[in-house]
Amino acid sequence: MLDIRTVTKHYGKHTAVENLSFSVRPGAVTGFLGPNGAGKSTTMRMAVGLVRPDAGEILIHGRRYDRLAAPLHEVGVLLDARAVHPRRSAYQHLAVLATTHGIPPRRVDEVLGLVGLSEVAHGYPGGFSLGMYQRLGIAAALLGDPGVVILDEPVNGLDPEGIRWVRHLLKRLAAEGRTVFLSSHLMGEMEMTADRLVVIGRGRLVADVTVAELTAGHQSLEDAYLDLTRNHTLEGSAPR
Ligand code: ADP
Repeated sequence: MLDIRTVTKHYGKHTAVENLSFSVRPGAVTGFLGPNGAGKSTTMRMAVGLVRPDAGEILIHGRRYDRLAAPLHEVGVLLDARAVHPRRSAYQHLAVLATTHGIPPRRVDEVLGLVGLSEVAHGYPGGFSLGMYQRLGIAAALLGDPGVVILDEPVNGLDPEGIRWVRHLLKRLAAEGRTVFLSSHLMGEMEMTADRLVVIGRGRLVADVTVAELTAGHQSLEDAYLDLTRNHTLEGSAPR
């Protein structure tokens, strides 16, 4: 369970996230939608202590990230897939994480197999495609076998086969009872992957619904989403 509780974040005079509250439940895939600049990445970063909220708090299984005894076992996160040391192989990248978090080395081989990178595990990520970085990022997120998984645009850069693989993986993680929270701009994919949707606009909650609820009366999720966010697209210029 991931609880976002009345969180606000300002950057100077700019309000990135304002009084935002919602819960992401276990056993389902929850999509996080909103126009560029809506505050999705900031919210995900606040969940794992990379950005400090000005007000409110985000709880993972009832605790703030900085109070978790074994954070990698509780929450796995993919924020910026390319944030990998260029002279560490995929294996070394994961092994460093594993060693510093008391995770056995065999788990590194396991997650490399899970994401389909076993054959390139000892190559340097310098030659990786964005899709391969995404797979490595997902491997890192799953390393500690966490109950909560937070992924920012995980299918960005993946080919259709890779996108389908992520879809099945996320559904399986949810079916195992985990809390799965992801952002994506690919509405068709979100429609096929997510059970629930949280939509934000200019840092505020716009909708917290099932996919079926949001798409009711529309041709597609994309149509429903565009209707819903029309007033939230132009940052700073739309009426409040
Ligand atoms: P999203 O992920 O929905 O595209 P972000 O969370 O990245 O949105 O950004 C929300 C708002 O906060 C944007 O207006 C963005 O420009 C601003 N912002 C994000 N990070 C920073 C930062 N480190 N410094 C200043 N402004 C930021």
